[in-house]
Amino acid sequence: MSRGTLVIVGAGPRGTGLIERIAANAPELYAGSGLSREGFDIHLVDPYPPGAGRIWREAQSPLLWMNSHAEDVTMFTDETVTMEGPVRPGPTLHEWAGIDGSVFADRQLQGAYLRWVHERAVADLPDSIRVHHHPRRALRISGPREGRQQVWLEGRPRPLLADLVVLSLGHLDAELDAEQGDLAAYAERHGLVHLPPDFTADSDLSALAPGEPVLVRGFGLAFVDLMVLLTEGRGGRYEGDTYVPSGREPVLYVGSRRGVPYHSKIGYEWTGERPPLPRFFGPAEVDQLLARPGGFDFRRDVWPLVEKELGFAHYHRLFDVHPERTSGAWADFEEKYAAAEGEAELGALVASAVPDPADRLDLTALDRPLEGVRYGSYEEFQEGLRGYVERDLSRRHDPSYSPDLAVFLGLLSVYGQLIRLGGVPPWWHGFFSYLASGPPGPRLRQLLALSRAGVLKFVGADMSVTAEGGVFRATSATVPGAFVEARALVEARLPEPTVGRARDTLLRELHADGAAETPDGLLRVDPADGRILDRNGRPHPRRFALGPYTDGRTPGAFTRPRTGGPAFRQNDATARAALLFLGALTGRAAA
Ligand SMILES: Cc1cc2nc3c(=O)[nH]c(=O)nc-3n(C[C@H](O)[C@H](O)[C@H](O)COP(=O)(O)OP(=O)(O)OC[C@H]3O[C@@H](n4cnc5c(N)ncnc54)[C@H](O)[C@@H]3O)c2cc1C
Repeated sequence: MSRGTLVIVGAGPRGTGLIERIAANAPELYAGSGLSREGFDIHLVDPYPPGAGRIWREAQSPLLWMNSHAEDVTMFTDETVTMEGPVRPGPTLHEWAGIDGSVFADRQLQGAYLRWVHERAVADLPDSIRVHHHPRRALRISGPREGRQQVWLEGRPRPLLADLVVLSLGHLDAELDAEQGDLAAYAERHGLVHLPPDFTADSDLSALAPGEPVLVRGFGLAFVDLMVLLTEGRGGRYEGDTYVPSGREPVLYVGSRRGVPYHSKIGYEWTGERPPLPRFFGPAEVDQLLARPGGFDFRRDVWPLVEKELGFAHYHRLFDVHPERTSGAWADFEEKYAAAEGEAELGALVASAVPDPADRLDLTALDRPLEGVRYGSYEEFQEGLRGYVERDLSRRHDPSYSPDLAVFLGLLSVYGQLIRLGGVPPWWHGFFSYLASGPPGPRLRQLLALSRAGVLKFVGADMSVTAEGGVFRATSATVPGAFVEARALVEARLPEPTVGRARDTLLRELHADGAAETPDGLLRVDPADGRILDRNGRPHPRRFALGPYTDGRTPGAFTRPRTGGPAFRQNDATARAALLFLGALTGRAAA
């Protein structure tokens, strides 16, 4: 009989993690089975190098960094991960690279780590499992539910035949939506520059001319990449806290819905007892929500649990390490906190027990710091926003505010529960990223220096862009009546990961072929093992998907050590399902 075949499309961190789990589970599910006599082939399809893939490839600017501390990045499991397969320990990025754990490594170095992880995982596979890399795009999958699949590759007349296919496609490129299409068409007609949402490292920035104003919509991590490539990337440099321009930089006018950059990455480590999470939003609450006959509404039924969970993490830490900033005993507060219902009751309890407002958790203020804030002129606002960033930087590097880090742990816990609840709404992912996955402190210090040097200007919250009079014009709610005009507009964000608008033919065809998507456009997968669901909720026996474009998306591919990483659990479940499926096929063929 012919050997079994597994095709993995996408050889970035998720594809790599899957191979690591296949190797880890092989001794139990493979050795001694009929499958191990026959062996099988893994075909890894990705135009970019295995391990690093597109985002972490070593061929990119050395100026681009990770936004995680090197000690917070691991590709290996530990006993905090709830999974059926075995734990296989391995080094974190900082242990592997021999660097300080608090360093923000550049993406090239992470790419080298990922390549090493890939090579080690392949070396750990039994000899009869062979891995073949095809440096091409996969264009289409065809084949019946119950039979072998065909995976069609660019430039190849015949498809790869696959008993199973796993898609770990990562971040997707997308077709322009109606607004982007109109702006692009306007730019075309008037000779303007319009750069739509994209992976910044792959954008051609050469059209952004020195000294020219450029409107930038988006203040997250894609903006930070853009800022770096257009400043240091054009020959500027820092002397301490002063930016020395090269003269080749454009002038960036940045704004967004919130009008502020993502909160600074927290700059100290956890010490002491962790908050006992989950407490108010755990498996029991998830099961109750799932069992509700009429379904549940996110804002009405889930959000209050999330708020309560995050507050619990915050106050648990505050009472634990700063009892002098609280009044009363924790046990008493905890009991009342558990019993309190509704915003008013909780607010009153907190106000009575935590005298300093800076020690209270205010998610609304954290989320929208410019809400209702108005400035009379852009000049005043520049100073105001620099003050805000300075305060955020100093608080997030001050361990006496470690309840902030407890909230971070709470956010991770909540994320894990939301996955179990059947999917993570995009707004939650955005809220999480803004609060928990912001830029490294040094990047925000650079942002301040660029602002002082006049290379970077802030537009404000609720930034709106119109195309009129042959230019782009930006306004914001923060500085009423003022506007900025420019001949260039950059949308500094990743494309929305919607299956229906993906530029990728592979996903579009899957969708046309019956694969289900959530109302937010994410591909629906079976939470048990990542099998792709059809519109009747039936899992496809031979097709799996992992990663940020699915409703099984996790906070990010890189797990912090000892945080239970849901991505590891998913990779493990998919690897086991694949081995069992291939084993059963071999058994049938041998019988
Ligand atoms: C710019 C950027 C920076 C980030 N920084 C961090 C960070 O610092 N820390 C962190 O924890 N997370 C970070 N993330 C989050 C990110 O989700 C993960 O780090 C990780 O890259 C996701 O892994 P993945 O394998 O799912 O996707 P990807 O890394 O996107 O890999 C998917 C692979 O699939 C391939 N592919 C897609 N379609 C096809 C096709 N049709 N045919 C063949 N191959 C295909 C792509 O070429 C790519 O190599 C960042 C994300 C981005 C976009």
